[in-house]
Amino acid sequence: MWALIISEVIRQGAFHAIESLVRSRARRALAVTRRFGDDTLAYFTERLDPSVTRKALAQVAQRAKRNKAFDCQRFIGLALDGTGAARSRKARCALCHPIYNAEHEIVGHNHHFSMICIVGAEIVLPFDVEPYGPGDSELAASGRMLERGVEHLGPRFADYVVADGLYANAPFLHRVGKLGLRAVVRLKGNLPELLAAAEARFANRPPSSSFTQGKDHIELWDADDFDPWESLKWSTVRVLKYRQHKPDGQVVEAYWLTDFPSGQVGSRALFAMAKSRWQIENQGFNEGKNRHSLERIRHHHENSLLMGWLLNCLALVIERLYRLRYLHRGERQPYTAMELVRIMWLSLGVVRPANTS
Ligand SMILES: [Zn+2]
Repeated sequence: MWALIISEVIRQGAFHAIESLVRSRARRALAVTRRFGDDTLAYFTERLDPSVTRKALAQVAQRAKRNKAFDCQRFIGLALDGTGAARSRKARCALCHPIYNAEHEIVGHNHHFSMICIVGAEIVLPFDVEPYGPGDSELAASGRMLERGVEHLGPRFADYVVADGLYANAPFLHRVGKLGLRAVVRLKGNLPELLAAAEARFANRPPSSSFTQGKDHIELWDADDFDPWESLKWSTVRVLKYRQHKPDGQVVEAYWLTDFPSGQVGSRALFAMAKSRWQIENQGFNEGKNRHSLERIRHHHENSLLMGWLLNCLALVIERLYRLRYLHRGERQPYTAMELVRIMWLSLGVVRPANTS
């Protein structure tokens, strides 16, 4: 288990790479006790119980919160999103989704899963994944995962759930409310009446606030008295519109809906919550896929794939807490992920003097 985690941290997650490492002189420095082959890892991951790793991830997050790892951040969010990963030519497991070309021929397969990430603070912790096979859906998988996540983290761990427009539907928003959380969800064309009402209301009005963030200029429109659509059991809906002017002239505009009262969360704090959705994209999926093994099929078996994704989360969580919180004490800037990997690699190559006594 440790070999799988530490190899993920040093970005050598392929099973044959792990085999080479544990059969090399680096094994002791990696704190792996014995040698084994890549087939052992296949056999092992098929049989691991994902619930143990999920609970371990939640326990790490709870401990991080107790130890103030999320700074003095007033609001902690849970970001939800789905992705596709691990392409395969042939279908080999129940999670394989066929990929069709324009002629509706099957040209390959991939795997889908939802991820949940603790967001809102500088440190971002992906702490669970939930696969969904054909016939299942991102929304259903994310709902199951959110309920499990809140159960594992405890009721008052987080303040809000942030997600894209797919999640802007009454059953999901009610589910979030039942868990004691507020929702911050993108408002798009799938709610045409509310979107049209917000567009009309904000069109001829000056922004309610504007400020500079980095090199961008941000304008915000905010109103909390929109009517809920028919199936939504909220008394009113609050809508935030932002317009972000980038230095190259590009303008980005988006609408978000929430049930946070204006008295509890100001426009600017709500804007930050909406933007925290990008943290799962960047520090969950992109990091996991581009630098680690999230995209890779190491052993094509449902449980091995799931365990690979969960252990990827665990490795990212351990790496971030170690680098950004444990090592970063005092004045110096924290290491970047790449700097830490380089330091770790160099330490693996240190040859201890032979004992000649
Ligand atoms: Zn498969």
